[in-house]
Amino acid sequence: MGFSTKAVHAGIEPDPSTGSIMTPVFLTSTYVQQELGKHEGYAYSRISNPTRTVLERNIAALENGKHGLAFASGMAAEAAIFQLLKAGDHVIVSRNVYGGTYRLAKLVLGAYNLHFEFVDTTDVVNITAAIKPQTRIVFVETPTNPTMEITDLAAVAKLCKSRKLISVVDNTFATPYLQNPLDFGIDIVIHSATKYLNGHSDMLGGLIVLNDKRLTERLRFIQKSVGAILSPFEAWMCLRGIKTLALRMARHDINAMEVTAFLSTQRKVKKVHYPGLVSHPHHRLATKQMRGFGGMIAFDLGSLQNAKRFLKSVRLCALAESLGGVETLISHPATMTHASVPPEERQRIGVTDGLVRLSVGIEDVEDIIADLKQALAKV
Ligand SMILES: *Cc1c(COP(=O)(O)O)cnc(C)c1O
Repeated sequence: MGFSTKAVHAGIEPDPSTGSIMTPVFLTSTYVQQELGKHEGYAYSRISNPTRTVLERNIAALENGKHGLAFASGMAAEAAIFQLLKAGDHVIVSRNVYGGTYRLAKLVLGAYNLHFEFVDTTDVVNITAAIKPQTRIVFVETPTNPTMEITDLAAVAKLCKSRKLISVVDNTFATPYLQNPLDFGIDIVIHSATKYLNGHSDMLGGLIVLNDKRLTERLRFIQKSVGAILSPFEAWMCLRGIKTLALRMARHDINAMEVTAFLSTQRKVKKVHYPGLVSHPHHRLATKQMRGFGGMIAFDLGSLQNAKRFLKSVRLCALAESLGGVETLISHPATMTHASVPPEERQRIGVTDGLVRLSVGIEDVEDIIADLKQALAKV
């Protein structure tokens, strides 16, 4: 089955009791049991819910994995993965991950005697050098947020297998349409479904896909015990969004290419970060492990003042957190998504004060470019 077909059909059957072609939203907390210990496979909605189950099967199919789990947000999904750890464990994380990942690791889980080390994972040598006897997980984001660095998935998977570490990839930016980490031997894929999977900026959700049975059982246990589950309505919204993922991603990809071509010609733009550019340091690797480059672009306007004036002048592009919606969103990582990362650390990872991040939407690209052009004129 092709990707678009799977997006529309995988795990989705018409409702057997009514023929409803769309998955019903099962708004129920509990399920009647025929007798003690005998039920239809559902006992309580924190443990499982039929709408959520359909989404979990659908995302598993899209990521070429066996098992899917749905959480209340991307961060809840990440927290579940880190709850696989025990006090004293060490985790290696890509140095410019999503700001919330950094905050969870450093400002929440640090208090539980869990040690997170942020390294430049674009060179697997750095990961190898950071491994300690206490290391359990290697958590990679590729492309990274917001500077679009690429990490070699096959190399990370191989290293983790040989050292008995769990490899995790945050695949939010690429989506399964462009990249399937499990195909390279990665153990766990996680998504903020809030972004491209839903695609319409109208819900929050987090998804995990993996193959290993033992790890799945442990994560399901964590999911039901902690209770950070996706609600049935949000699961339905996400399923609805995923049906058009292929169409949307193809358009995001085309639009982003055109926008980067425009930005690259602008004198006021000091640098454009986009893996689709031949000048991007990891362009060849991106071509090897991705089927396109996606809709995320970062570019440098040289100073905070320039970035401020630019962001104040855009009209069509909406200044907002988040990404991956049909509408073009624009943001300022240093003061928004990466505000909890200390300034020295931000400099080190390339999140400069003049850096602007663009989530290119599916509007007519001429309109997006015209807006960027008029805002640049004000800088
Ligand atoms: C948004 C995001 C998250 C967190 O997801 P939420 O759904 O907002 O909790 C994690 N990783 C990446 C790359 C993200 O963009």
